[in-house]
Amino acid sequence: MGEMTPRKRALLCVTGNKRKADRISCLDTLTTCTVDQMNAVKAPFPEANRDPELAFRLAAAAWEVVGLEGFKMPFDLCVEAEALGCKINWGRIDRHPSVESHVFADLKDLKIPEDILDRGRFRMKHDVELRLMKEYGDYLPVANQVTGPFTIAGHIFGIEKFCIWTKKRPLEEVKEALMTISEMNIADCKRALRSGAEIICIADPSATSDILSPAFFRDVMVPVYKNMSRKIGAPIILHICGNTSAYLPYMPDTGFDALSVDAQVDIGFAKAIVGNKIAIVGGVPTITALLFGTPQKVREAAIDAIKKGVDVLMPSCGIPPRTPLENFKALVEVARCMVYQ
Ligand SMILES: [Zn+2]
Repeated sequence: MGEMTPRKRALLCVTGNKRKADRISCLDTLTTCTVDQMNAVKAPFPEANRDPELAFRLAAAAWEVVGLEGFKMPFDLCVEAEALGCKINWGRIDRHPSVESHVFADLKDLKIPEDILDRGRFRMKHDVELRLMKEYGDYLPVANQVTGPFTIAGHIFGIEKFCIWTKKRPLEEVKEALMTISEMNIADCKRALRSGAEIICIADPSATSDILSPAFFRDVMVPVYKNMSRKIGAPIILHICGNTSAYLPYMPDTGFDALSVDAQVDIGFAKAIVGNKIAIVGGVPTITALLFGTPQKVREAAIDAIKKGVDVLMPSCGIPPRTPLENFKALVEVARCMVYQ
């Protein structure tokens, strides 16, 4: 089978085949940017979110500075909302961009322009992915992140309003809107895959069980996600923030390869529920271990997660920008020295 490159290892681990790899992968498909990396490669937020040269350098820093075994673009969750016309607050060096205004007053106003992928920063994202692939692609994988349909709906309609609709409007109407949004995600992913991306990460933080019922997840989100997994044709990781325990029994039905779980979900519990039907990735809490902990605390969390069967060792959510570099590197060290028994 040739040399076990981080790329091969990541593709095996993401698709639930970690036993065929030599050890666990520490690819991170969530937000990996920290202030330490921005300073190291002189590519700070907020500029690095919009400047292709800075974006390339900061994306590459995941490997060059931290040692994470792969790349992910973009760094924020506003690409889709921006392209659809939302006003963006660009944040600052330690704060991600956020959506400031909504563009559609009602579900029936939703319309995705034909040329959506030529608007906003879609082109820049795909160009940076292509450059990463050309420079590193035979050794490290490139992941294309899309903001998930539920989170985009929150951006373009307003999250409070959209949440009320999930309870008051006919479910079919809500599902149709999310399906329409998912088609934009699919088109984005298809272009990213042609630009050299090999892994897809759907970041749908707002689809959390703090907001949605397990029944809504089963009846609306699963069919929407299934539409995506059927049409994208590449390994897909879904990330949802918060406690997704109640969703776990329905996760294999999405057709996704992996679920990235937040710190509230115990890796052993998640593995026990889903078995081998979908990989479980994550394991290192972003707040208690990475941001406020020590390298020792990160190592303990990482070893615990590997013992509980995590499929890719990564932070439990997007990394807080002020995370110390030595803490982040401790995660990578554990992945590198824990060889399967
Ligand atoms: Zn999260």
